[in-house]
Amino acid sequence: MLEIKNLHARIAEDGTEIIRGLDLTVKDGEVAAIMGPNGSGKSTLSYVIAGREDYEVTEGDILWNGESVLEMDPAERAAAGVFLAFQYPMEIPGVATMEFLKTALNAQRKARGEEPLKIPDLMKRVKEAAGSLEMDMAMLKRPLNVGFSGGEKKRAEILQMKLLEPKLCVLDETDSGLDIDALKIVADGVNALRSPERAFLVITHYQRLLDHIVPDTVHVLYKGRIIKSGGPDLALHLEENGYADVIGEAA
Ligand code: ADP
Ligand code: MG
Ligand code: MG
Repeated sequence: MLEIKNLHARIAEDGTEIIRGLDLTVKDGEVAAIMGPNGSGKSTLSYVIAGREDYEVTEGDILWNGESVLEMDPAERAAAGVFLAFQYPMEIPGVATMEFLKTALNAQRKARGEEPLKIPDLMKRVKEAAGSLEMDMAMLKRPLNVGFSGGEKKRAEILQMKLLEPKLCVLDETDSGLDIDALKIVADGVNALRSPERAFLVITHYQRLLDHIVPDTVHVLYKGRIIKSGGPDLALHLEENGYADVIGEAA
């Protein structure tokens, strides 16, 4: 379970406070959608959860299964089961996707005090996961994300998620600029990974993705705090009416 309590976070470089007293609880098995206008702090929230160093927590706490993650570095958080899917997937020239997956998996195992995977075991896992995503195996030999189409990048991302078996998946605006096919890849991937032990934070500006990933809860983030929470109907309300009345209500 993820519990965020009175979180305040600022940009390390200039001290601007972006997250301003945010409270949020996401239970195991829950898919929580975070919506909100541009500039609300949605991406910042995902980075702070993942432990990016460009942000400083000044107050409050992020508890993961009752333990604060604030003293953990990003690798330790990943080892504890936190996965962040990037809004803008990194292109890694010169590193074959397969090699990248091996590095990511073994880094996680190392942080957990486990032995690196043997090559045949690694190949088996990757092939199984890629097969279930109807991924072209040739893609695994290409450098990660370099020249990948939008849909291929999403497939690669879901593949990483599947292999790392995270307990908390944070997906940030994965629908931005996605065509309907890529959107379906993400939604099908997420839906297949839904389980009672796994929580999702699906961060999105648009309702569109939530037609395919039906969330259990919907939270509106505005000016660094959650100003309203509800069920899937809240997302539909926002789609029809925009954010103005929810923001007005909270003001
Ligand atoms: P959202 O994802 O909801 O659109 P963001 O978290 O990206 O919002 O940004 C919230 C605000 O913080 C914006 O005004 C943005 O410009 C600012 N911001 C976030 N990160 C940085 C940073 N590293 N440097 C400067 N400004 C930032
Ligand atoms: Mg934005
Ligand atoms: Mg964003």
